[in-house]
Amino acid sequence: MIISGVFPCPVCNSAWSKFLLEKKGNNADEGSITLYSCAFCDTVYLGSDNQVEYDEQLYAYYEAYQGKNKEEIFNPLTRKSYCNVLRLFDVYGGGKSILDVGCGKGDFVDAAIDEGYNAEGIELSPLAVNIAQGFGLPVSNMDFFSSDIKDSSKDIVTMFEVIEHLSNPVHFLDRAAQVVKPGGLIYLTTPNFNSLDRRVLSVKWNAIHREHLVYFTPATLLKLIHKNTGLTVLHIESKNISSQLINHYKRIGDRFKIKRNDQYVSKIKQHKINSESIDYIRIQIDKSPYMRFIKQSSNLLLNVTSLGSTIVILLRRRW
Ligand SMILES: [Zn+2]
Repeated sequence: MIISGVFPCPVCNSAWSKFLLEKKGNNADEGSITLYSCAFCDTVYLGSDNQVEYDEQLYAYYEAYQGKNKEEIFNPLTRKSYCNVLRLFDVYGGGKSILDVGCGKGDFVDAAIDEGYNAEGIELSPLAVNIAQGFGLPVSNMDFFSSDIKDSSKDIVTMFEVIEHLSNPVHFLDRAAQVVKPGGLIYLTTPNFNSLDRRVLSVKWNAIHREHLVYFTPATLLKLIHKNTGLTVLHIESKNISSQLINHYKRIGDRFKIKRNDQYVSKIKQHKINSESIDYIRIQIDKSPYMRFIKQSSNLLLNVTSLGSTIVILLRRRW
């Protein structure tokens, strides 16, 4: 049923939308999250009153990283994936100056500098900026629309998991197109609303969050770019299965083992799934050529079916 929404579409501003789902908050203060799908451009967006573009409190977890050294908080496997991103830029002749928007504690800036790029980052969370600056990284607490960022000044602008936080993603992409030089590259990633993760986990999917104002599929993201920007799409893919979905299947597997064999019960009850066990899985995949082949093949399948957890897109500003 199409309704006249109180909240207009953040992409095309249409007032007509379809109700998609409601997710109850974990506690009474959070309220619920309601998602709508635009009747005109199909973009999914958050229509709740409690939407928030940036809330410092949500970044309080950076406190836990303060005072730690780089080796403790920068993941070597994530570093490896960043090197693959940099290789993609080389393929398209991207140049060497990079601005990473929403750079967090500077993981990507650090990797890019080590690989010979002239990289800088901007970030809204002062806690994250503090960590990055503590490592000597050129990261500043600055808004992307600041006049300190000059037009046509960068070869590449990167935005890892940023666009879903924006109340006006088109405006932000226009800004990125302004900041890169003619022919420059814009790289972004965002959770895929069409993913296997979202289909299996439904409202429990972690990416459905009051800070995520807009949710893309490869199709709706391409529609936005073709209709609203003059950017050329060089590369688009959807890849990976999230750690949340892996945990979900692992829990089902563990329950099956409990049924099969009672001696597992006490052992499994003690076993707490945490991020370390996900790191363990990532390391095992990385170490084994066979597992790497399985991962590459499943990524190929996820891409063909558009079911991967993350959308990756590389764009070029026209000359
Ligand atoms: Zn729309």
